[in-house]
Amino acid sequence: MSARPGIARHGALEGRIVACRACPRLVAWREEVARTKRRSFAGERYWGRPIPGFGDRDPWLFIVGLAPAAHGANRTGRVFTGDRSGDFLFAALHRAGLASQPASVRPGDGLELTGCRVAAAVRCAPPANAPTPDERARCLPYLREELALCPGVRVVMALGAVGWDAALRALAPPRPWPRFGHGAEARIGGVTLLGCYHPSQQNTFTGRLTPAMMDEVLARARALADGAPEGAG
Ligand code: SF4
Repeated sequence: MSARPGIARHGALEGRIVACRACPRLVAWREEVARTKRRSFAGERYWGRPIPGFGDRDPWLFIVGLAPAAHGANRTGRVFTGDRSGDFLFAALHRAGLASQPASVRPGDGLELTGCRVAAAVRCAPPANAPTPDERARCLPYLREELALCPGVRVVMALGAVGWDAALRALAPPRPWPRFGHGAEARIGGVTLLGCYHPSQQNTFTGRLTPAMMDEVLARARALADGAPEGAG
């Protein structure tokens, strides 16, 4: 049986991402955090390197977050894994039938995504969760390349404004670009870009983003992939 399109090249891309040292500030930060650690994880070996995408290698839904958390993915080595943002996201993906389990603790914990892939706009943990414009631009080709390896994608779901901006740049629609908003939609070629507030604690602890709100966006993503017209959600 022949491999599905692009799958054989995912491994090569992941290898290049993991070896990347193109942003001196981020390389220094991710490695310092991995050395100094948080007290509660003092006994763990931190990953301390860039984080490749995770999930189905031939997805219909591609989710773009901001960047790895210093003590989350930068510790565990898997995107959105080991922090509260990931707990919120993967619980929602599980309710939507896209994740095999609601918890994302560490690589090898049994989590599998079906029909869905998750990646970050910037692959290294930034200080204060704030990558610079230069760092965002430097990392963008990885997202563009990863999307190109997923020709079956029908919906790109952007978690927050940074993910939205990166997805727009990666998909390269004509200007003017649509503004980010929770539930915002933009049709770009055969793909719909769909906005969702980022599941950061700032949003989930304050009720700005609730589980029901994320469930609605995921249901809309499913409807769009199944052929619902734009704006019919
Ligand atoms: S943020 Fe992206 S471009 Fe910069 S070092 Fe990390 S992987 Fe490389």
